[in-house]
Amino acid sequence: MSALRAEATGYNHQETLMRLTTHRKEILDYLTHSREALSASALHSALPHINLVTIYRALDYLVAESAVKKVHLAGDEAFFEVQHEPHHHAVCTECGKVIHFTTNDAELAKEFSLPGFIISDLEVSISGRCRSHAKK
Ligand SMILES: [Zn+2]
Ligand SMILES: [Zn+2]
Repeated sequence: MSALRAEATGYNHQETLMRLTTHRKEILDYLTHSREALSASALHSALPHINLVTIYRALDYLVAESAVKKVHLAGDEAFFEVQHEPHHHAVCTECGKVIHFTTNDAELAKEFSLPGFIISDLEVSISGRCRSHAKK
């Protein structure tokens, strides 16, 4: 009877915790190896057995834990990646190709210096056209 009830409500705290942890690990592994910035929906396409809500929750958790960085590229959709070192992005508006690049962040922060404002994080996102789409 109790097993039936658990089945009916679909709630088993221990099992939920374990499942979430496994999914988080799976998402983190996927992002680590893809070396790309991926949206939640792209992750869902790659890992279709994990539902989208679970992916969003796992990403929130991983971002809060600083395991994953949320990056803001062109458009409204947020992208997520594992940054092996801090870097910036250039996005092709034609094909969506993302180029990951580093700059001298200290110099850049100096360039952007705002009176009475201390920069704690600097994220540059550039839009343009990649080599294959540079021609008119
Ligand atoms: Zn392009
Ligand atoms: Zn990147």
